[in-house]
Amino acid sequence: MDTRASLIGLAQPALKDALLAAGVPEKSAAMRTRQLWNWIYVHGARDFAAMTNLAKDFRALLEDKFTLARPEVVTAQLSNDGTRKWLLRTGPGIEFETVYIPEEDRGTLCVSSQVGCTLTCKFCHTGTQKLVRNLTPAEILGQLFVARDTLGDWPSTAENRKVTNIVMMGMGEPLYNFDNVKAALGIVTDGDALALSRRRVTLSTAGVVPMIPRAGSEIGSSLAISLHAVRDDIRDVIVPINKKYPIKELLDACRTYPGASNARRITFEYVMLKGVNDSLAEARELVQLIKGIPAKINLIPFNAWPGAPYECSDWAQIEKFAEIVNRAGYASPVRTPRGRDIMAACGQLKSESVKERASARLAAEKAADELAAVQSAQLARMPH
Ligand code: SAH
Repeated sequence: MDTRASLIGLAQPALKDALLAAGVPEKSAAMRTRQLWNWIYVHGARDFAAMTNLAKDFRALLEDKFTLARPEVVTAQLSNDGTRKWLLRTGPGIEFETVYIPEEDRGTLCVSSQVGCTLTCKFCHTGTQKLVRNLTPAEILGQLFVARDTLGDWPSTAENRKVTNIVMMGMGEPLYNFDNVKAALGIVTDGDALALSRRRVTLSTAGVVPMIPRAGSEIGSSLAISLHAVRDDIRDVIVPINKKYPIKELLDACRTYPGASNARRITFEYVMLKGVNDSLAEARELVQLIKGIPAKINLIPFNAWPGAPYECSDWAQIEKFAEIVNRAGYASPVRTPRGRDIMAACGQLKSESVKERASARLAAEKAADELAAVQSAQLARMPH
């Protein structure tokens, strides 16, 4: 087993400390830190040998003590719509998924913050998996490294880079892993590191209300809220964290979110569940509820998974719902499902943290295949 320490995910002061501890003299430590920073995050260097402007014996010392290893790729899948999904592993039972969604004008990486999740949202596949643990900054950033390595997307400052946006919308609740998410996103948005503007980084939360002001002031990314219902009785059931932090408190936190403005709207995600939350009366209540918040509403067609207790609303209903929201002055884009054929769409991510019998696994795979076939037929009927 490799016992060398990873340098990925350390903030600059911690990186400098690691170099000092390894014997780098104080007088050159600051410069060495900057050089390494540039190699690791701008050029995506995977080993120290590639760092040609560093002295040979310094490179040997780094090689001896440290690593820039990526998470192990367990599976890499490519959807017929160009979406990619990776299942990554960083230790026994520590598996998590990452999804890359290419679009005409951007490429979005959907990043996980936890292995499993504690929230148990009824419509979410990840919610059926118990929390295994929080991901470290290295593991959060490791997802970006694997994507960029695969896509040949270095240096990170290139004009036509492929990963242009990051959404913390993979497995887990980012605000329950605040420190590690903050550390990782600090490096993502550092102009001398991965150099993505804060506007291109979106953190999505199911509503950990006490952490929302801190997310605004300490991370400063764009904010998305998984709202999904307009009344507490329904939200209590489908997004159980609502019992702790009900809708009113959640929306109050949005009203005071630092940096929200018409130029930087808060996104409200709303999954369309047939007969559960998709009536036109609810669309009208929704626009009343969010009055005064600079917002856009992202309607998400429900993505099914084996055993899911819900169905997606009919397309015509989604359109009518969207129109009401839109007429009230809010952008109401319907999120095109991407990567459904490889179970990469919203709410479909899950890793095998629990041991399954081979027979159960085969049955689950068969069910997933059948579902994918039904869904691609459904997708073919949807207007684009
Ligand atoms: N825990 C955070 C981050 C996950 S984001 C949060 O809840 O915001 C994943 C998004 O996909 C959330 O808006 C989630 O509610 C939504 N989602 C979950 N399951 C889904 C499904 N089956 N179909 C469509 N969207 C789903």
